[in-house]
Amino acid sequence: VEVTANKYIQNVYEAVVKRNPYEIEFHQAVKEILESLVPVIAKHPKYMQHGILDRIVEPERLITFRVPWVNDQGAVQVNRGFRVQFNSVLGPYKGGLRFHPSVNASIIKFLGFEQIFKNALTGQPIGGGKGGSDFDPKGKSEGEIMRFTQSFMTELYKYIGPDTDVPAGDIGVGAREIGYMFGQYKRIRGGNEAGVLTGKGIGYGGSLGRTEATGYGTVYFVNEMLQSKGLHFEGSTVVISGSGNVAIYAIQKATQLGAKVLACSDSNGYVYDVDGIKFDTVKRLKEVERKRISEYVKEHPDAVYVEGCENIWSIPCDIALPCATQNEIDEQAAITLVAGGVKAIGEGANMPSTLEAIDVFHKANVLFGPAKAANAGGVAVSALEMAQNSMRYSWTFEEVDAKLHDIMKNIYTSSVNAAAEYGHPGNLVVGANIAGFTKVADAMIAQGVI
Ligand code: GLU
Repeated sequence: VEVTANKYIQNVYEAVVKRNPYEIEFHQAVKEILESLVPVIAKHPKYMQHGILDRIVEPERLITFRVPWVNDQGAVQVNRGFRVQFNSVLGPYKGGLRFHPSVNASIIKFLGFEQIFKNALTGQPIGGGKGGSDFDPKGKSEGEIMRFTQSFMTELYKYIGPDTDVPAGDIGVGAREIGYMFGQYKRIRGGNEAGVLTGKGIGYGGSLGRTEATGYGTVYFVNEMLQSKGLHFEGSTVVISGSGNVAIYAIQKATQLGAKVLACSDSNGYVYDVDGIKFDTVKRLKEVERKRISEYVKEHPDAVYVEGCENIWSIPCDIALPCATQNEIDEQAAITLVAGGVKAIGEGANMPSTLEAIDVFHKANVLFGPAKAANAGGVAVSALEMAQNSMRYSWTFEEVDAKLHDIMKNIYTSSVNAAAEYGHPGNLVVGANIAGFTKVADAMIAQGVI
């Protein structure tokens, strides 16, 4: 049976590579999931008989569109917009929008594919989707950001809605961009469909705690992993890459739990503060002033700035939280972290560790919290935002935070249990993949060949 399962998985993977040539990030995400599923397919031939894997790797829909806009010099610019509606078996497509020059079909498909299983793990009724554009917000004026974002929504609005597809933020898309998109959607559609986007401002349908949710959730998840080995954030050193929405609130929560955050970064370099990175400074520099992280040392002269963000992993620490972007920890960085004595990794970004890096961590017995489990707090609170919008009601920050905490604990427990049940105790990559997959796959069987 094992051989048949292996063969089936191999065939599906080869078909994905053949059908999606050169999409290396998408191949990587598919490979990581499929390899985990061998014991599931072996135990339950129904998944093979119903062609679940063949279907699940093919998006229900991939939309690409032109986004024309005019820059401050009056010159016409053209970017490409994407929305992948990957799987709607559990609910409306749900997932962020990323504005970054690296965005292409491969990146959007890897993110959308991950989102299916992440969203299933949250236990909330949401399917998997993702979108974005190769637009580079870096160095753009307020006016350019607004005109681009409005043009983007002028096309995207045709494909989304509170019960069909609900976008949110990701890299390059925060509360400001969500606000502009919400305004444009409302202007085109008329009426107030609050639940069409999540991550909205608190004054017009946003949820308290959504901004903090991904960073806090990652720390809550890692806290569960640490406690299983009698370890704690209290008294630990932490290195957190990135300085965006995920990193900022991971810094805050880790610090609140008594850890010392030694460093954080942006795409140019990192800052090291032996006294502990100051949350308030990073939050203001990045969220309000929109400056580079190098500015941090002007306010904290004892801290040092080092050029080159990838060097951040050479800092010895107890806990590493990659919260920047995909493939930021390669095999060599993983080896360096292990040599520096790292005890736990929690992925706040999407797919920040390469497959080789994950292997290094597992072989060294480092606790490893994979992205689709560890960073699911953001989308989980997005689902809570949708629920509040439907009820025309809002929960307090404390209520949302308590629900987030419960959801992260449940994700941890179901991942641990699935890993043990299928013969890989302690392997949360396998556990999260299986727990997410079986939920989606069973719903696909129940709903027929769709
Ligand atoms: N972009 C986030 C993620 O990767 C959040 C998506 C959402 O809130 O819909 O899960």
